[in-house]
Amino acid sequence: MFLRELNDPVTKLTGVGPSVAGNLTRLGIVNLKNLLCHYPRDWEDRSRIHLIKDWNSGRVCTEVQVLAHDWFGFGKTKTLKIYVEDDSARACLVCFNRPFMGKQFPVGKRCKLYGQFYYKFGEIQATAFELEALNAKTGAPFGPILPIYPLSMGLTQGLLRKLIFQTLEQYASSLEDELPESIIIRDKLFYKADAIRAIHFPASQESLKQARKTLIYEELFYLELMVGKRVLQRKSSIQENDTSVKPKKEFAGDMSPLQKRLLERLPFSLTSGQQAAINEINASLDGPYPMARLLQGDVGSGKTLVSFLAALRAAEKGGQIAIMAPTELLARQHAENAARYLEPLGLHVAFLSGNLKTTGRAQVIKALASGEIDFIIGTHALFSRDVVYKNLSFVVVDEQHRFGVLQRQAIMEKGNTPDLLMMSATPIPRSLAMTVFGDLDVSVIHDLPPGRKPVTTHFAKESNEGKVYEFVRKELDAGRQAYFVYPLIEGGDELKDAVFMSERLANEVFPGIAVALLHSKVDEEKKKQTMDAFRKGEIKILAATSVVEVGVDVPNASCMVIENSERFGLSALHQLRGRVGRGTEQSYCFLVYSDNLGEDGKLRLKVMQESSDGFVIAEEDLKLRGPGQISGVEQSGYLKLGIADTVRDSEQLEKAREDAFSILEIDSALEQNENFRINEVLKRAPPFSEMGL
Ligand code: ADP
Ligand code: MG
Repeated sequence: MFLRELNDPVTKLTGVGPSVAGNLTRLGIVNLKNLLCHYPRDWEDRSRIHLIKDWNSGRVCTEVQVLAHDWFGFGKTKTLKIYVEDDSARACLVCFNRPFMGKQFPVGKRCKLYGQFYYKFGEIQATAFELEALNAKTGAPFGPILPIYPLSMGLTQGLLRKLIFQTLEQYASSLEDELPESIIIRDKLFYKADAIRAIHFPASQESLKQARKTLIYEELFYLELMVGKRVLQRKSSIQENDTSVKPKKEFAGDMSPLQKRLLERLPFSLTSGQQAAINEINASLDGPYPMARLLQGDVGSGKTLVSFLAALRAAEKGGQIAIMAPTELLARQHAENAARYLEPLGLHVAFLSGNLKTTGRAQVIKALASGEIDFIIGTHALFSRDVVYKNLSFVVVDEQHRFGVLQRQAIMEKGNTPDLLMMSATPIPRSLAMTVFGDLDVSVIHDLPPGRKPVTTHFAKESNEGKVYEFVRKELDAGRQAYFVYPLIEGGDELKDAVFMSERLANEVFPGIAVALLHSKVDEEKKKQTMDAFRKGEIKILAATSVVEVGVDVPNASCMVIENSERFGLSALHQLRGRVGRGTEQSYCFLVYSDNLGEDGKLRLKVMQESSDGFVIAEEDLKLRGPGQISGVEQSGYLKLGIADTVRDSEQLEKAREDAFSILEIDSALEQNENFRINEVLKRAPPFSEMGL
């Protein structure tokens, strides 16, 4: 029997009635497998004596004798105090709500004491402690190291220990191993029964360590096995439109005719990073499997152009292409670029967003269904229910981290296993690249187009912002433009907001200079007008929220002023800073921070001055905020593992991936003898089924 086959309800255990069962349910424990997988959050090693006199330096763990009883308070609040003594000192145990302890521990009794002490009213006291009679027959059958479980109301450590111990007694010996024997032997891991026993009631620190290692590895191994199987699945689902004649083989490895024509029209040549990325993409597109690739590259590295090139190759195969962007602003910008670059090559380009007027929308939808449109660019509207494609064969998701897993799935389902290219300037940490995105191929653009001058970053206290304004004025006088970014749209009290500040900038700070306001609540038509005017230079200053964060491309803008910059994540600041430095002139980023920002906050901002590398900044951000903050990931369930932690256990994860992938490589159907066990696990007790893997 595998552990995940232990489906008997907890009520099967002696001592579990409806009320205890109810309490267990609150911890998510319904059946025996849940119970055994309720791993301790910590362990107490009671084999190490820690005398009362040393209460100040850690938990006390010692043998004591009961000296006296005392009571304080009246009526309901009457509380028992038990005085005890070990070889070193005396202490007082305050037994809130435990008057019955008096009978259990009469004067003279010898006991084992365990607890956290403090000094109060001239005594060494404890309220959170455990006292165990030394000669008790009912005494714990457990070893010297005791598990400490996460609890919920109505449950005690004692009860959980008993229940889990009982379950182990009855079932542990019949638990089958899940890891391949060869790995268990190679890494000197425990067999399953021993591992699960020792994780709850280890005989020694050494065996606890080994049990943890075993269970963590087992979990990661199966996680990667599932990821690996998904890769295989993708690779086995040969695209339908590939069964036709394949014209693409003609230009295998090379740029296709349309790709070449686009490159000839460009006023610049590809960076070597772009070149490498498109080569990898071309190879995937020519391969027999649907592509699923992540294209990473810092802000301004030219990912859009790479996606256009890729799209051209797909278009030559006769399918439709969709580019999905998270904001209307960005989608429009892409659409304009596509019209400029791709229409002259004979492609029919269209734009679709939720704000398109009914008639325009109906036309686009009709033309998509008939196949008249080759290339559609838009927002979430691209996967609306009523949008039907004739033959969607290539999907690009720009700024992919802005979309949820389900949204990416929704657009993919509009086609018949289309090729997928996801793009992001937010680097994905290694641990996630092996799990959430573990089945993707990855291309990285490490360089930026030549001639870019690094943006100079300055810090300023809010009270010094006058100097920042002066600096910006000089840039404006020299014909340049500026962004001012605020953490709030409106109604800022302690914080500055875009609405109020746009007025102030226009009327007080830069009178006579054209200032416009941009934030997510401005209606799309107005947004578009504003951006057009800013791009043309009719508007000099854009007062905005982080809506300008993604994609906006105005080379003449040389100043980015971010106020209350302490309110933004580092990656967001990096994205914002990437809005300037797109032309040939030197550009500047001002991080204005609140006068009362602490040292930690300043240190955090300093990272922005030390690095202009989005990958470095994202790693810093990850360290400071944890992977749960990376949007899109929390919905994936990958972070809710049982005992493993993909960030903490990244080394094990890497090894598990190697093991799992090499097994699948040799025996993808898991039919060989030595993989019988894995096969059985997947058949009888599939892991991570609740995560939809
Ligand atoms: P991102 O990777 O941040 O999406 P974009 O695709 O918006 O970057 O490109 C940023 C700018 O760089 C655009 O104005 C684009 O036209 C320009 N660009 C792209 N590739 C090159 C290149 N090889 N040489 C010069 N400029 C380029
Ligand atoms: Mg982009």
